[in-house]
Amino acid sequence: MSPTHAPPELTPQRLGRIRTLLLRWYDEHEQHFPWRGARDPYLALVAAVCAQQTQMSRVLEIYARWTEAFPTLEACAAASRAEVLRVWGRAGYPRRAVHLHETSRICVEEHGGALPRDQEALLALPGIGPFTMAIVSSFGFGDDAAAVDTNIIRVIGRVVCGDLQPATETPRATIDALADQLMRPGTAARWNPTLMDYGGRVCTPRPHCDECVVSHLCAARPRFAAGEVAEPVRAQGAFAGSDRDWRGRLMQELRDRDDGHGGSNSGGGGGSTVSSLLGTVASTRAERARARRLLNTLVSEGLAWVEGERCGLGAAPR
Ligand code: SF4
Repeated sequence: MSPTHAPPELTPQRLGRIRTLLLRWYDEHEQHFPWRGARDPYLALVAAVCAQQTQMSRVLEIYARWTEAFPTLEACAAASRAEVLRVWGRAGYPRRAVHLHETSRICVEEHGGALPRDQEALLALPGIGPFTMAIVSSFGFGDDAAAVDTNIIRVIGRVVCGDLQPATETPRATIDALADQLMRPGTAARWNPTLMDYGGRVCTPRPHCDECVVSHLCAARPRFAAGEVAEPVRAQGAFAGSDRDWRGRLMQELRDRDDGHGGSNSGGGGGSTVSSLLGTVASTRAERARARRLLNTLVSEGLAWVEGERCGLGAAPR
């Protein structure tokens, strides 16, 4: 069987069976994460942002640290840029901390101290794309919005379209349309985690078809049964020595040197010198030029500041 890129037919009967069987599976295997039942848009936002490009085991750790430091949107908005970056710590992709901070501030200034319920207004906030918006809408407000992450793409691509996945075969726009179609109105808060967890535990990159409750309805099952295998996702390049590695080391050094008063809200703190910072990661002239270029990218992303020969974490002290 070869996959087709035409929108696959999903008869009402097949659609109904897939929904029923997967929701029944979720009833028995539900994972209790603190943000799923909280009906708190801020907690849902934090969880979704923590989950971007991050394994679930690490998400819990980052989420716990963040919500302990900033339990509410107001608390996050009141913190300095340096504080949120210190709390984010070594969790990676620190732009996410900046986005949470900026979004919290905008909500305090423009939305009465709360995340807006309107989905277009959510999408206009920093760092909120369709997936994060769907998590905030469904977990936070109980509204309908189909979340589409890599697990969900895999499940829908296989069950409905006959893809092997993780290598994508069906165009993303088709998957998005199917995600909307599959979700029964009024059930997003349960349907989204159902698909996420099913993709994380049963329909994994190497699928457990023998344990699958929808195997008889799955368009990819015959391909796997015939011995076809999913193409692995292309491995990322080596981390050590990469720009990401160096940026992480610069950020770590900036956090270590921060005196806790270097944020834009505090008005205190003077940071350290650029040359001593660069010297911690670079020894040759070429390395220093590279470190300086990367420091400039941190500044342009709001993660660090440079004024003359001085630099620091977050935004420059006023
Ligand atoms: S039969 Fe296999 S490929 Fe199809 S949904 Fe189940 S686990 Fe995934």
